[in-house]
Amino acid sequence: MGAKRAIEELKSRIALIDGKYKNDMKDYKEVLQMAVDAIDKQIPMQPRYEGDGYCDGELVYDMAYCPKCDHDFEYNINDWGSKFCPDCGQALDWSVGEEGEESE
Ligand SMILES: [Zn+2]
Repeated sequence: MGAKRAIEELKSRIALIDGKYKNDMKDYKEVLQMAVDAIDKQIPMQPRYEGDGYCDGELVYDMAYCPKCDHDFEYNINDWGSKFCPDCGQALDWSVGEEGEESE
């Protein structure tokens, strides 16, 4: 089961709890939500790039931000290009240009 599918399935259970068992199953819902968040972070997201200058007419991206927690990455320094956000653990996809659908 792909990560996206697992999230869908879990979310439908959460919706069920919200609809029927709101007060009785609070813990259960929290655990499911925790699982959704954890799996969600394993699906790579592209960082938000920002550039502040031009070189040969092209915008140069020298800053990137975690899409989840806004951790800032500075070009070629410390965490730039790391697979996971050092703050929140979000998986990051640094390849620019291709919107890859999951292939699992
Ligand atoms: Zn983060």
